[in-house]
Amino acid sequence: MAKDVHLLQPVEGRPRLDRIDPKETHGLEEKAAKAVLQRDVQALSELHDLLYANGKRALLIVLQGMDSAGKDGTIRHVLQGLSPQGTVVSPFKQPTELELSHDFLWRVHQRVPAKGTIGIFNRSHYEDVLVVRVHHLISDKVARQRLRAIRHFERQLTESGVIVRKFFLHLSREEQAIRFEERRQDRRKNWKMSAADFHETQLWDQYQKAYQAAIEATSTETCPWYVVPSDHRWYRNLAVAKVLVHTLRELKMDWPPPPADAAAAAAEETKG
Ligand code: AMP
Ligand code: MG
Repeated sequence: MAKDVHLLQPVEGRPRLDRIDPKETHGLEEKAAKAVLQRDVQALSELHDLLYANGKRALLIVLQGMDSAGKDGTIRHVLQGLSPQGTVVSPFKQPTELELSHDFLWRVHQRVPAKGTIGIFNRSHYEDVLVVRVHHLISDKVARQRLRAIRHFERQLTESGVIVRKFFLHLSREEQAIRFEERRQDRRKNWKMSAADFHETQLWDQYQKAYQAAIEATSTETCPWYVVPSDHRWYRNLAVAKVLVHTLRELKMDWPPPPADAAAAAAEETKG
């Protein structure tokens, strides 16, 4: 990882969540961070164009986190610069009856980005080892089987050219309470709140435990999880942007040459 990514420390791998401070900013200042973010968003847009032009690989970004951790905000602020042509955002809600009549990866596989494009999962297949686990809708045995299935699924995606990067937006319970109160007071936001959201908050510790288990079981070298301290929105945005820029830069992409027939046609044209 590049040095600047290290500094931001979206901890890669299998960290203990209770040892990572959601308020972490590593001494960065908001104003400076915002200027850097602007540059990174621009870089991301150019890298996306290269990805599209080459059409060989896809990038899948998985966003997970407790309610109000900032999944929507990350999409708005970090991924705003991407060309809509090659970007698909897929939110995953409660499964429909049809979806439930299939295996849990069925609805997910269909949303995996095509080569040349970026797919953003706002929630994901991980809900099937998180919310359902916390509510005891599946046994520990089934949870283990699903975690294994996820590992294999993501590995297979990697082998077919999809780069998988997963982000856990790590929020503190106190900050969530503040954000819920803000949402309740703000007409532009309170439509987002449901009674269930308040209920889920009571299950905070169980959720953290389920996240911990999921991250431990599925963070691999090729499909890593990043734990992103998310109490500060600006820090969260910058940390996610840094990882994505770094990931795409590592592909060392260049513009593809023009198709041979296009070059020949252009030569003909000049002659005539
Ligand atoms: P939101 O993202 O705030 O619009 O909420 C979507 C809701 O759908 C959340 O409460 C999720 O936990 C729930 N959800 C998403 N996927 C699943 C799933 N596979 N099983 C059960 N609930 C889910
Ligand atoms: Mg919600």
